[in-house]
Amino acid sequence: MNPEPHSDLLLSVKNLKVHFQGVGPVAKAVNGVDFKVRRRQTVCIVGESGCGKTVTALAILGLLKQPPAVIAGGEIFFDGLSLFDLPASQMRNLRGKRIAMVFQEPMTSLNPVFTIGDQVGEAVLVHEEVSDDQARRRTIQLLYDVGIVEPEKRLNDYPHQLSGGQRQRVMIAMALACEPDLIIADEPTTALDVTVQAQILRLLKRLKQDKEMAIQYITHDLGVVAAIADHVYVMYAGVVVEQGSADAIFSKARHPYTMALLDSLPTKEKRGQRLYSIPGSVPHPAYRPLGCPFHPRCRYCEPSCEKAFPDFFDYGKGHEARCPVLYKSGVGEKDR
Ligand code: SF4
Repeated sequence: MNPEPHSDLLLSVKNLKVHFQGVGPVAKAVNGVDFKVRRRQTVCIVGESGCGKTVTALAILGLLKQPPAVIAGGEIFFDGLSLFDLPASQMRNLRGKRIAMVFQEPMTSLNPVFTIGDQVGEAVLVHEEVSDDQARRRTIQLLYDVGIVEPEKRLNDYPHQLSGGQRQRVMIAMALACEPDLIIADEPTTALDVTVQAQILRLLKRLKQDKEMAIQYITHDLGVVAAIADHVYVMYAGVVVEQGSADAIFSKARHPYTMALLDSLPTKEKRGQRLYSIPGSVPHPAYRPLGCPFHPRCRYCEPSCEKAFPDFFDYGKGHEARCPVLYKSGVGEKDR
């Protein structure tokens, strides 16, 4: 059932479980994830690689190869539609028309043998019944919207003739071709240098306002989250461990994993100091520890943490974290 009919809720993921069955034990890549994206909101899903962020996005888009992936549970609603109940043809229609995706590395998504004019034009023609001339004009406008200078002159360029930042702008232009309600951006600035990254983030923020879209932004980088997020979900080992407004996450984090991520973020105050690095690594999805999945790396771990999987504890205004130890002890209560 649609969880909030007639609301501004655009996307709702409920208790999503995606497992991979190969040789050996089942890999529980996503193991009960809940999150929501509201219209015109930028929601960041943050966590180290291997935490299940990208698998969650692929499940929303219906792009998981099944098998080996198995949707082991949960529901996804987009604007009231249950995505797991949609016929494949409707899902294809929705994908690209109302939900578009921007990937990390444009060189693997853009076709090297076609010009960017052809590729953006193709995206326009797939979604709109327009003449070739109208498609050309719309392509020029889209390239202009994403900040490509003198777009008429760039139409005949091939992807290798553009810089990394320009290629990512072209990918965003293709995503915008259908005027989607939601853009899912998976680490779109990771391969770019810091200045270009900041330009792309500013572009996404402007487009979100101008086009009234929502953005689900997937990243491992809290610096990016600080620049763009309205609401944040912190994922660890296939589950959400903390969620709240960007302000709550940055000033009042209440989960040791979020706190550790923040401690490892370079800031002006930490200039010249050695940055904190979280010991160990994210456990393999087939070998997740019992109890709290973060316990082998957690500086606040107690014996009870190894036994029970923690529930969420409520800190008000939509801010909650899965850590009973900090909730009871009050550690982290003081604003960071
Ligand atoms: Fe750390 Fe225990 Fe809290 Fe898990 S439940 S985050 S191990 S203190």
